[in-house]
Amino acid sequence: MRATEPRGGLVLLSPLAGWSTPLDEVPDPVFAGRMLGDGLAIDPTGATLHAPCDGEIIALPESKHAVTLRSDGGAEILMHIGVDTVGLRGEGFEAHVTVGRRVAAGERLITFDLDLIARRAKSLLTPILVVDGGGFTVVRSGESREVAVGDVLMEIAPAGEASAGSGAREPESGAAPGGDAQARLVRVALEHGIHARPAALIVSAVKALSGEVELAVRDRTANARSTVALMKLGARKGDEVRIRAAGRDAGRAVAAVADVLAGAHEQAGGSPPAAAPKPTSVRPPQTAAAVEVRPGAALPGVVASRGMAVGQAVRLAVREIEVTPAGAGVSHETLQLQRAREQVRGRLEAARASASGTAREIVEAHLELLDDPELTESALAHIADGAGAGHAWRQAIRADVEALRALGDPRMAERVDDLLDLERQVLLSMNGHAGAAAQDLPPDAIVLAAELLPSQLVGLDAARLAGICLAAGGATSHVSILAAAMGVPALVAVGPSLLRVVEGTALLLDADAGVLHVDPGAERLAAARRQLALRTARRAAEREAAQQDCYTADGARIEVFANVGSLSDAQTAARNGAEGCGLLRTEFLFLERETAPSEAEQQAEYQRLAEALAGKPLTVRTLDIGGDKPIPYLPMPAEENPALGLRGVRTSLWRPDLLRQQLRAILGVRPYGQCRILLPMITDVAEIRSVRAAIEEARAGIGRQEPIEVGVMIETPASALMADSIAAEADFFSIGTNDLTQYTLAMDRGHPELAARLDALHPAVLRLIARTAQAAQARKRMVAVCGGLASDPVAAPILIGLGVHELSAVPAIVPRLKALIRGLTLAECAGMASEALEQTSAEAVRALALRRAGRDGV
Ligand code: PEP
Ligand code: MG
Repeated sequence: MRATEPRGGLVLLSPLAGWSTPLDEVPDPVFAGRMLGDGLAIDPTGATLHAPCDGEIIALPESKHAVTLRSDGGAEILMHIGVDTVGLRGEGFEAHVTVGRRVAAGERLITFDLDLIARRAKSLLTPILVVDGGGFTVVRSGESREVAVGDVLMEIAPAGEASAGSGAREPESGAAPGGDAQARLVRVALEHGIHARPAALIVSAVKALSGEVELAVRDRTANARSTVALMKLGARKGDEVRIRAAGRDAGRAVAAVADVLAGAHEQAGGSPPAAAPKPTSVRPPQTAAAVEVRPGAALPGVVASRGMAVGQAVRLAVREIEVTPAGAGVSHETLQLQRAREQVRGRLEAARASASGTAREIVEAHLELLDDPELTESALAHIADGAGAGHAWRQAIRADVEALRALGDPRMAERVDDLLDLERQVLLSMNGHAGAAAQDLPPDAIVLAAELLPSQLVGLDAARLAGICLAAGGATSHVSILAAAMGVPALVAVGPSLLRVVEGTALLLDADAGVLHVDPGAERLAAARRQLALRTARRAAEREAAQQDCYTADGARIEVFANVGSLSDAQTAARNGAEGCGLLRTEFLFLERETAPSEAEQQAEYQRLAEALAGKPLTVRTLDIGGDKPIPYLPMPAEENPALGLRGVRTSLWRPDLLRQQLRAILGVRPYGQCRILLPMITDVAEIRSVRAAIEEARAGIGRQEPIEVGVMIETPASALMADSIAAEADFFSIGTNDLTQYTLAMDRGHPELAARLDALHPAVLRLIARTAQAAQARKRMVAVCGGLASDPVAAPILIGLGVHELSAVPAIVPRLKALIRGLTLAECAGMASEALEQTSAEAVRALALRRAGRDGV
């Protein structure tokens, strides 16, 4: 791949795969206003940035989110991956070059984690700029279109004498060289130091002023008219910078630069400092009111449910239900409220009977709230004060909502949603609606709304619903979980500009990359439709092959099992070709009830599950319940740190009566041998021995002769480190990567702020898995992974390479995993695993894994 340099000009090749768009679309006034230079932006679909021409790397910040290259002819090309990505401090970026290195066109410069950046950055749009002051201008940059790496992107040429080389700029006439010199020492207050944006603002601030302006940090100096030179200073927050200026405007120049360094624009929300003369082409900073959602715009959001959809915008305006403030008498209003609550209870109970998994949990949460005595009491008190039933119910709910919001704890968001949902359901009932009426949708509807409640989502016509985009919301909210369970692609937290998209606009929702493309053009829509058709065909082929046993390309047997939490999960698992159940979370039988399920009840349920699996292995995990999931019939001591308290096997040994009952129920399942037992939260062999003794006692009690296989979950660092001694006592291992990651990284697995960093591909976790697999191999024990990492197709080659024999995943992903494994060889997996173990971060491991998988390969 070579970039040509015609007549002193230069053709730049596309450094990224993606869609090229005008700079105006970049949601940042510095880029959109061309304050750094002219060019265009690419909305990436690939995760590797390549050199657009031959040249030398002249700037690469520590955060590795941007790189500047100087062509042989002197043009300076800045490539800035995403917007506001300096704040990621290098997370998700891996540089393959260093400053001073010569590169050839097409050479790999930076790889990055597309998903992570889509989730965490303001935008994925990547400006590719010819930096002002380098003496080159853009001659031709082409239309918005799909580009592959190496496609011709734009043509640039040397600018006329007037604009060339601001680095060598002479003081303007009237400015006495060396005269009127001014200097000031300023401490950098900018959160991320002098990165691309502040550099552009400094250049802009001094543009209209005459004379020389220079910044010095430690032993480096930079001309204040060169963005690249300023970025190369490497000035960080807290550094002392000496600003020097000479000439007629020296005083104003020093003051303007000092303003930028003091962070005046950061406090002002990103607009240039007031003191700086504003270039006419700069658009105002994007605020909710100012943003125009124009054709071709790309709105980034947080991925709540992966997938892609092509369709039309359908605005879901949720009108507040009207209520009458004044009541018509206490007894009348009390009766109204009671009736409405009864109707809602009836509907929720009916829904619970047919729901499973997440949908069931949500229904149960609503039932629980409906009977909350404080809520009812509060509503009745409002009625007693003269309020109408609807008004009273709303007042009671809203008081709780306010109280929860005041906690400022993002984990309370789901509870708030549940309360508002319940408010709506009861008020609809009062108004004579039998539940949330199914809303009419046109075909291929991509529903846009400020927020959406679970009952509203359920009320939408699923056959016509192609996708969901919400201006607010979080990825762990109930509605997000429900969308994922329904397989509907969804983005949340897109921001208020979403609500300016006009009804009926053609949309491309890329909920893999976390972007909603508004009216992206016929060509792009057609390409997306082709991609969707390919995916659909691939999925169909995978489902067809899913019933066959799974072997790698070189013949190694890798079993793909499923995790199960209900009878319907087991049925889906069997339909999707799962070769057994690698983890039955028995908690589902124990929660939301007044007394523990009897032995007979448990046995009947396990038997039903065994039958649904048609004789395939059923791995029953003993009760993994703890202080964070209180059950009324098992009062536990209050714990400050429930995750570190009585949970898993510790609870079972603390209540041996419950353990014995459960063991007898498992041992009673026919045919013998279909069930195996799995023990959660083991930390040493003593715990295994205690449970084994209870198993032997139960076996003798029911007169069963055959032994039963007993496996251990490796989900604490202790058990991974002790795997050699544990292997002597256990028949198999099953690695619970959810808890293993939580305890290894010391990050709460439910913490929304840490969610992006809680990656089981962290090398520390992988090293524990490697150790576990080695210990198992020495004793010829089978090793499974049943934590969330087993459901991540990107991770499969690494896990297999580390020595894992069985993956137990969510039922829906089983066909995909099998297809993927069939294309792998053990040697390739082993190579990836050893490379992964040598990485220094989860991001680096993920980048490695993604390179193997390719974006659409997962
Ligand atoms: C795990 O910790 O990875 C696991 C499978 O158990 P659970 O998610 O049920 O805690
Ligand atoms: Mg666990």
